Amino acid sequence: MAFGTYKEVVSARATDKAIQKVAQDGGIVSALLCYALEENIIEGAIVAGDTEDAWKPEPTIAMTPEEIIAAAGTKYTFSPNAIRLKEAVRQYGLEKIGTVGTPCQIMGLRKMQSYPFATRFVADKLALIIGIFCMENFPRDSLKTFVEGKMNSSLENVNKMDIGKGKFWITDPEKESGLALKETHGYEQAGCNICLDYVAELADVSAGSVGSPDGWSTVFTRTDNGADIFTAAVEAGVIETKPMDDVKPGLELLEKLANGKKDKGQKEIERRVNMGLPSPF
Ligand SMILES: Cc1cc2nc3c(=O)[nH]c(=O)nc-3n(C[C@H](O)[C@H](O)[C@H](O)COP(=O)(O)OP(=O)(O)OC[C@H]3O[C@@H](n4cnc5c(N)ncnc54)[C@H](O)[C@@H]3O)c2cc1C
Ligand code: SF4
Repeated sequence: MAFGTYKEVVSARATDKAIQKVAQDGGIVSALLCYALEENIIEGAIVAGDTEDAWKPEPTIAMTPEEIIAAAGTKYTFSPNAIRLKEAVRQYGLEKIGTVGTPCQIMGLRKMQSYPFATRFVADKLALIIGIFCMENFPRDSLKTFVEGKMNSSLENVNKMDIGKGKFWITDPEKESGLALKETHGYEQAGCNICLDYVAELADVSAGSVGSPDGWSTVFTRTDNGADIFTAAVEAGVIETKPMDDVKPGLELLEKLANGKKDKGQKEIERRVNMGLPSPF
């Protein structure tokens, strides 16, 4: 199954212009977290905040909509948001926490909830888990190497990064340029090569760009909790939706990419097992 278990899939975007301006795609992650915060469904959210070093995100406990919106946009490097979960519960005293993460990070959170070794009374405070689609991720030094070495820019100058249409795109004040993805292969973290989840199958709600037009997101509602929060946000006018069948390129492309990732990952797992290396699955 390419997409995992889900209730509904739609194309959607935030209606708030301030979110649209800074979001990576449809701003669904930021809009949902802000809505949940304002409705007291969550009391705070762990997001990938910016630091003084360009494109070096840091897991951040956001306590206001402004802090959530300040962390919008994709950083194509690691932001292990789960590392602040215990602090959010123990030091901040939060009883209801929202968070966002790549599929592997969501897997980690669900594992914490199912086998709470050292996370008892922590992982059950997660009230909204939003997953983002993910094909691969890069160590920050890798980003630096190909942005500076192959794209003739510097991380400090880049305003936005994006992957789409077979290229890694950067926008800096002077230009937008794309690097063919075959040039970035080998720079991804090695663990991504055995990853079998593209669309964050274990999240409450997952969102990504593939399948929907620019400025919109493809969104899966998965759990009862996720579907309830998403539906309430749509009814409140915070998010607008379109049926997937009405948008291009639609689910066919997403399915192709999700299955491609699973096949490739499975082959790499088999190759490693045949070499006598351990497999986590
Ligand atoms: C490494 C990576 C690879 C991706 N690959 C794909 C892909 O192949 N196809 C696809 O459709 N989508 C991919 N995405 C997801 C996509 O780029 C957007 O994050 C997603 O569409 C949500 O957009 P939005 O406008 O709803 O979110 P926004 O409102 O812009 O919010 C994004 C949220 O994600 C958080 N965030 C940003 N970077 C990270 C990070 N590295 N780790 C954890 N949280 C983070 C931010 O703090 C923010 O809360 C990828 C994302 C990442 C981080
Ligand atoms: S490809 Fe998989 S392992 Fe790599 S960051 Fe994305 S979800 Fe995590």
